[in-house]
Amino acid sequence: MRYEVVVAGGLLVTGQGVVEAHLGITGGRIVAIAQEPLTGDEMIDARQRVILPGAVDLHVHFNDPGRAHWEGWGPGSRAAAAGGVTSVVDMPLNCLPPVTTVEALRAKLAAASGQSMVDYALWGGLITDNREHLAGLADGGVIGFKAFMSHSSTEEFTHVEDGVLFDGLLRLRELGHFLAVHAESNAITQDRMRRLQASGRRDRRAWGEARPPIAELEAIHRILFLARQANCPVHIVHMSLPEGAEMIHAARTGGQAVTVETCAHYLSLTENDLIRLGPVAKCAPPLRDPDRQRGLWEAVLDGRIDCITSDHSPCPVEDKARGEDDIWAAWGGITGIQTLVPLMLTEGVHRRGLGLERLVALLSTTPAKIAGLWPRKGEIRLGADADLLVVELERPWRVEAEWLYSRHRQSPFISRESIGWIERVLLRGRTIALDGRVVDEPHGEWLRPVRSGRGGAES
Ligand SMILES: [Zn+2]
Repeated sequence: MRYEVVVAGGLLVTGQGVVEAHLGITGGRIVAIAQEPLTGDEMIDARQRVILPGAVDLHVHFNDPGRAHWEGWGPGSRAAAAGGVTSVVDMPLNCLPPVTTVEALRAKLAAASGQSMVDYALWGGLITDNREHLAGLADGGVIGFKAFMSHSSTEEFTHVEDGVLFDGLLRLRELGHFLAVHAESNAITQDRMRRLQASGRRDRRAWGEARPPIAELEAIHRILFLARQANCPVHIVHMSLPEGAEMIHAARTGGQAVTVETCAHYLSLTENDLIRLGPVAKCAPPLRDPDRQRGLWEAVLDGRIDCITSDHSPCPVEDKARGEDDIWAAWGGITGIQTLVPLMLTEGVHRRGLGLERLVALLSTTPAKIAGLWPRKGEIRLGADADLLVVELERPWRVEAEWLYSRHRQSPFISRESIGWIERVLLRGRTIALDGRVVDEPHGEWLRPVRSGRGGAES
């Protein structure tokens, strides 16, 4: 038997454990996992290397169509490829039009087609006035829906109050779908912001004061209650607090279908970095204090967090720069897709003893399950797509601006010392990135969920 591609002699992190074995790939899929050597048309020497499944990033904003000058499918997906993210799930907002209608879904698919280096799936949106479009979007192949409980940063993607939120949950339950929620209280954040602004505050610390932990916790509490009443699965996005992890864990223990993600930046930056770096580290929810970051890491290590995403949300340089002396004026969003896997290798595996199998669950397997893309994506197993990372686990390196593929190279992680270098990235058996550089043309494909994605417990 001769394979199209063989990855020879690596340490594979599979769903069944960590094994030293050879991988045979044909037709873009893993068709052999063998102890004995295999022969292939293309031989990849992976001795002394760890092989991970490519990351599945559930939370990215490529802003295309409509705001491609902020990022776009080309630059965003090249950044993904270079950083070891082989599947992205693009959020319904910041693009124009937002994906709240079937026509907008088609426009997004047209924008991505032929442009994406990595495979992609899409979220639909729930806003104040699009409830009649939910069924069409579900049929159209979105993996799930996203709603904001507080003002989003764009006018066209309206946040929803409890009336629409609860009715949306009921409708999505009927459709067999689930809702992902940006959980911050609009009432608390708006009141705080108005008062801080009225008192003349424009400094960096004011951003965090306007969005305190209670604002996030109150919203999590409320969405858990509403979703339980509606019997609709929910997914809490970019959750930043250990107390939130506790509430969600308790709900799940009580039988509720709820999943939760946190982001690489909450695990690798604190509010002190916002003060130090300024607008480049502005995001919502805001970066938290070091004690809370420690608590969040404990939740990750204990298995109370399901997955880690980038919430990659780039913008033009001017949109950050205008907030240098007025934090309210800066775009809130962190450019982070390319550094997601490296940060988790460094901060998780090397600094905090996160096991490789847990790393894979957090970055690949569980997000693929939540999005309804597993078992095709998210795991090294027979029959799965050969989306693979060849990693030199102990190699130290530094994040340099020149390495970044985003349209605007602004990242709070520039100059960061890292351990664990992604030497090669394969998408369906093709090498798309080698030694940090993108080496292929765009061949990314649209992924429809095998079943509707769901926020339910891992299965
Ligand atoms: Zn986001």
